[in-house]
Amino acid sequence: MYSVNYHRAASVSDAAKLLKSGDAKLLSGGMTLIPAMKTRLAAPSDLVDVSRLKELQGVKVSGKTVTIGAATTHYDVSTDENLKKACPALAHMASLIGDPAVRYKGTIGGSIANNDPAADYPAALLALGATIITNKREIGADKFFKGLFETALKEGEIITAVTFTPPAKAAYQKFRNPASRYAIVGVFVVKGKDGVRAAVTGAGADGVFRSKEIEAALAKNFDVSALDGLKVSAKGLMSDIHASADYRANLIAVMAKRAVAAAIA
Ligand SMILES: Cc1cc2nc3c(=O)[nH]c(=O)nc-3n(C[C@H](O)[C@H](O)[C@H](O)COP(=O)(O)OP(=O)(O)OC[C@H]3O[C@@H](n4cnc5c(N)ncnc54)[C@H](O)[C@@H]3O)c2cc1C
Repeated sequence: MYSVNYHRAASVSDAAKLLKSGDAKLLSGGMTLIPAMKTRLAAPSDLVDVSRLKELQGVKVSGKTVTIGAATTHYDVSTDENLKKACPALAHMASLIGDPAVRYKGTIGGSIANNDPAADYPAALLALGATIITNKREIGADKFFKGLFETALKEGEIITAVTFTPPAKAAYQKFRNPASRYAIVGVFVVKGKDGVRAAVTGAGADGVFRSKEIEAALAKNFDVSALDGLKVSAKGLMSDIHASADYRANLIAVMAKRAVAAAIA
């Protein structure tokens, strides 16, 4: 590790001011940023810690809206009793992230800002049609996730929360890397007020994406049988040491079926 200036922000507006110093970066759970600094993939001059800001923490379910603060840990999302009632699929998804240490420290804001192509939250938020709230504006999930490790966030912009309407039915299934638990393929399916949405993580060469084939099949009949014979194209999918594009294409169909089975169970 090299020397770096550490700042504990007193508020979101304080964090926004501190971010203007040198080549500063926000620090939330540190689960990605700290290893990246250790390996010199990132070398910020200043770290602005927002992980302890109460205004960024917690899950609120009020009427038809769920709001989750950006610094809410995966553990808190996975165990929130109100969320388990409003959107059990999201609480379940959070329980599948990494290991206990990662879930106790890692946060939803850090995860979606990082937009790792194998991360779970991007698929969930895209399928839920969530809105990402920053200190400057609100961004729909369809516009937020731009590509590999790329989002619509501008320099110095801070995610403060995500919000969505809980759907009638939803579920997430992932085929995970046994070492890291990141998704080799993960599929989040939703049947909600805007119809059916299905998002895939772990597979796309350009990061998380919505599967038009799965959505079209399920829009006619939200049932596992609607996906019988579904052939997912390997075009645009990743091939790496973990799985080929063809293998991932097959896994997308398998995970989608499992997710629909769980959503209607
Ligand atoms: C061993 C291991 C296993 C993992 N397994 C999984 C898994 O199975 N599934 C999965 O989805 N993830 C997995 N992760 C990732 C983990 O879930 C973290 O959520 C993720 O690394 C980033 O969250 P963080 O809070 O730690 O962010 P940090 O590491 O603190 O920050 C990450 C990036 O986000 C930026 N940032 C942080 N907060 C904000 C904000 N509020 N607004 C704007 N930008 C912000 C930071 O500047 C930095 O660029 C794993 C990580 C590890 C180390």
